[in-house]
Amino acid sequence: MFEILFLGTSASAPSARRGLSAAIVKHDEYRFLVDCGEGTQRQILKSGAGFKRLTRILLTHGHLDHILGLGGLMSTFMRWEAIDELEIFGGRSALDRVHDLLYGVVLRGNQPPMPLSMHEIKPGIFFEADDFTVTAFRVTHKGPDCLGYIFETKARRPFMAEIADELGVPFGPERRDLVTGKSIALADGRTVKPDDVLGPWQSGTKLVVVGDAGRTDNILEHCQDADALVIESTYLDEEAEMAKQFSHLTAKQAAELAKEAGVKKLILTHLSRRYRERDVLEEAQAVFPESVVARDFDSFQIKRS
Ligand SMILES: [Zn+2]
Ligand SMILES: [Zn+2]
Repeated sequence: MFEILFLGTSASAPSARRGLSAAIVKHDEYRFLVDCGEGTQRQILKSGAGFKRLTRILLTHGHLDHILGLGGLMSTFMRWEAIDELEIFGGRSALDRVHDLLYGVVLRGNQPPMPLSMHEIKPGIFFEADDFTVTAFRVTHKGPDCLGYIFETKARRPFMAEIADELGVPFGPERRDLVTGKSIALADGRTVKPDDVLGPWQSGTKLVVVGDAGRTDNILEHCQDADALVIESTYLDEEAEMAKQFSHLTAKQAAELAKEAGVKKLILTHLSRRYRERDVLEEAQAVFPESVVARDFDSFQIKRS
C-alpha cells in the first residue's frame, strides 16, 4: 500500500487555498517528497507530517513552482530542524537549477547542514527496497529532462495458510523459508515445496505520479493499469489551445489518459487559479467517473483492488 499526502495543488502561483506543487508518498517507513514548491515547509508543518525521515526528494522538473521551496527548506535545516541526510533525485536540468539555488543563493560557501547528494536519474528503476521499486519515465513538457514516477510494490505469491495447516507445516521459520522460496523438511520426513503453499502471482500496487505534462500519448504505457494516477490538469477543454501552447493538460485530456490506461483512480492536481474546482472535476468525470481533484492536505491510500 502507498499513501499520498498532497501539500500543494496549485499551478504556477499559489492561491489563497492552494499551495505550490508538493506531495509526500509514503510506504512503510519510507517517505518521498515529490516536488517542493515555494511554501512547502510550512505545508509540511501544517499537515503534521514533520521533517523526520523526509530524506528523499524527487523532482518532476525544474520549473520554479516545483523547486523554489528547497531554498526555504535548506535555510530551515541550517538553523532549526535537523535531518540525517538529504538526497535529491531528478533530471539534469532540474538538478542544475536546484544546485544554483542551494549553493549560489542559500549556502553561499557554507557547507550544507547534512550530507547532501544530488542524483541525476534516467528512465528506469532508480530506487529499490525489499518490497517496492520507484521507476522514472520521460514526460514531455516545456524544457528537457521532465520525469514521471512509478511507485510499485513487487509482485508476490500469497501464502496459503490453510493449505500449510493441512500439510502440517509448523508456525515459525519453516513458513518464512517457504515464502522465500526454500523447500522444508517436516519432522515425519515429508518435504513441502514452496509451490505447495504459495498461490498464483499477484501484481503489486501501482501509483503513478506525473508532474506537468504536455502530451499523454507517450506516457500511456507507464500509466497502464495503475491503481492511482496523479497528474496535472492546468486547463479546461475550452482553453485546449492554450494548454497545448504552454505544454500542459486539460482535465479532459487527463481523464482520457486515465480511461485509456485502465487506471482505477485519477487524482488531478496543479489547478489554475482561473478555474473553479467543480468545473475541473465535472470535465474529468464526464470522461472518467473515478476522478477526484486533490486539495491541499488531502491524503489518499492506494491499494491493489
Ligand atoms: Zn508547474
Ligand atoms: Zn512546469
